[in-house]
Amino acid sequence: MEYGISTKCLYGNGLEESVDRSGAISFPIYQTATFAHKGVGESTGYDYSRLQNPTREHLEKIVAALEYGADALAFSSGMAAITALMELFCPGDHIITDCDLYGGSIRLFDNISKKNGIFISSVDCTRCSPEEFEKLVGENTKAIFIETPTNPMMNVIDIKKLAQIAKKHGLLLIVDNTFMSPYFQNPLKLGADIVVHSGTKYLGGHNDTIAGFLVTSTQELSEKLRFIIKTVGSGLAPFDSWLILRGIKTLALRMERSEKNAEKLVSWLCQEEKVTRVCYPGLSGHPGHEVCKEQARGFGCMVTFEVESKELAHKVLKNVRLIRFAESLGGVETLITYPITQTHADVPKDVLAANGITDRILRLSVGIEEVEDLIEELEKVFHE
Ligand SMILES: *Cc1c(COP(=O)(O)O)cnc(C)c1O
Repeated sequence: MEYGISTKCLYGNGLEESVDRSGAISFPIYQTATFAHKGVGESTGYDYSRLQNPTREHLEKIVAALEYGADALAFSSGMAAITALMELFCPGDHIITDCDLYGGSIRLFDNISKKNGIFISSVDCTRCSPEEFEKLVGENTKAIFIETPTNPMMNVIDIKKLAQIAKKHGLLLIVDNTFMSPYFQNPLKLGADIVVHSGTKYLGGHNDTIAGFLVTSTQELSEKLRFIIKTVGSGLAPFDSWLILRGIKTLALRMERSEKNAEKLVSWLCQEEKVTRVCYPGLSGHPGHEVCKEQARGFGCMVTFEVESKELAHKVLKNVRLIRFAESLGGVETLITYPITQTHADVPKDVLAANGITDRILRLSVGIEEVEDLIEELEKVFHE
């Protein structure tokens, strides 16, 4: 029997075999760098914590279960996960990415991957037809890298359709699923090969630590990545693994509450005259509404909106109190972000313009507060 997702948040696929011998309900933090051997060729299964540590392993099993993966690997940050992922590729390889990505991923691809001889093409995967897309695929093309919904513009990409193209050409489809979390969307079930998470966000959920994940559809991919994680040494530390384990226990509750709050905030934003655009896939007028409904169990808790002027955007950021002006997302606290100077500060101007990321765009990560308090604050900030 397979557990439902809320149960998986606590027990994964049933973790009797890996639960600590003491019977501890909260999985222990194995704060050790190394492990003793009884003799030559005899190991407990653990040798050195860079390779594996019981706390990290327990967390990886839970995340693999949540994403229906063959395996999951926990890294010291989302960017460490993506950096390790890029070690799968060699100089001369070509990767197609969507044009609207987390700014840090764009910075990595443009400055590190390109320097390492990897060719990156970026296209608008929401608008590009399959024929146009296939024209980009060459002999050296190895992978497609996307996020959906995208950050910050909330564009929705059809994962199943892209997976068909990837399969046809033998490409890996890599989906950064940070925005939806495994609670709302499972790209591997839709045909993706690797899922990326910034565990800092919804999985951790409390804005208190940094972590990242790669979840694989096959053991073969996992073996390649396990070789990389032990070699480059970017695995998640035991204490941070425990914090993320604790965060995941309430993932279902947090996602449900935050999404309800997001829906109410969206309704308020839609009726506010000084708001000129609201990007949320739950709106029936959103171009990706139907695809999102089809491929996800919810519309998420991220809301991007445009205000009538740059001055108003700055005033909102200056005057919010309960809503905190801070980078990041996915925690219990509602945060407001200014992509143009924060998450997307290093993205070239023409890319920003093409994606519609202007100085009037604000992004909300909706938390679990009383939504009335959030709305009351926005009312005040917009009209005082
Ligand atoms: C934050 C984020 C990352 C990077 O993760 P870190 O944990 O900050 O390194 C990658 N992708 C998305 C979509 C993100 O929001």
